[in-house]
Amino acid sequence: AAPLVEVKNIKKYFPVKKGVLGRKRSFIKAVDDVSFTINKGETLGLVGESGCGKSTTGRLIMSLLELTEGQIYFEGNQISNLTNNQIRNTRENFQMIFQDPYASLNPRMKIRDIINEPLIIHGYNKGDRMNRITELLEIVGLSAYHADRYPHQFSGGQRQRIGIARALAINPKLIIADEPVSALDVSIQSQILNLLKDLQKSFNLTYLFIAHDLSVVEHISDRVGVMYLGKIVEIADKETLYKNGQHPYTKALLSAVPIPDPKLKRERIILNGDIPSPANPPSGCTFHTRCPLATEICKQEVPKLRQIGEGHSVSCHLV
Ligand code: SF4
Ligand code: MG
Repeated sequence: AAPLVEVKNIKKYFPVKKGVLGRKRSFIKAVDDVSFTINKGETLGLVGESGCGKSTTGRLIMSLLELTEGQIYFEGNQISNLTNNQIRNTRENFQMIFQDPYASLNPRMKIRDIINEPLIIHGYNKGDRMNRITELLEIVGLSAYHADRYPHQFSGGQRQRIGIARALAINPKLIIADEPVSALDVSIQSQILNLLKDLQKSFNLTYLFIAHDLSVVEHISDRVGVMYLGKIVEIADKETLYKNGQHPYTKALLSAVPIPDPKLKRERIILNGDIPSPANPPSGCTFHTRCPLATEICKQEVPKLRQIGEGHSVSCHLV
């Protein structure tokens, strides 16, 4: 069967205004030749520091941004060259959950009306809508009496539950969760992650789960892709990536994941400097300015993403 989503060589270049970098034409290569698939019912984690292109990738799949190059397929059909009308029809299969539910929930609207919105757009009649709102609130661990309250009357975790209820309203197939727990306390994070896992099982949902650190995606992902400066530098199933991640950037991110057993010490790999500007990325391997293992060839040749094992691909000259 076709994967639920297939992303093929997608690029998103944002033009930089003339003069900003003293050149005539330049681009921020936010997403630069990214390919992956998401299978039905699985969670693909997408990890990397801010500015690596993971949110842009999510927005491209949602058709909220236009591709510069490449194709996106949903259930085997290309969705990256559709008209606005056709996009509207496909888009009901996709929903997004955001980092800050407070910013995405209108403060002047009651919860009932917030969840009602997508139901109205998709033609539910009034009686069905009222039942569905109650059902959705219960599904996410809230109650019918919460429907008449306003977003500010809820905690951060509860607001994320409301965001999830709204995302589920019209039975999407894919949920793109962009840092959905990054703004929450650690104890609340695991509650929301567990809720997402339960919902996935109950409703056969597929997730693209975006996060900036590997510890958050560990419990929810089946496979994980690591992004750096607009490219996927390593992708593998979760066990392989966490036990046998090969790319020096993956290793650095892994070294920052806390280990529960204090006897097992892992040396923290500290990377030099900051992420370079995506408007002016380094030559060769774009990670060479920060890589502890960089050699001469790294500055000259772009490493290809090569398969090194079943479902495991890495782009590094040394691997
Ligand atoms: Fe480091 Fe070179 Fe590998 Fe890039 S190609 S990750 S610079 S060793
Ligand atoms: Mg982001």
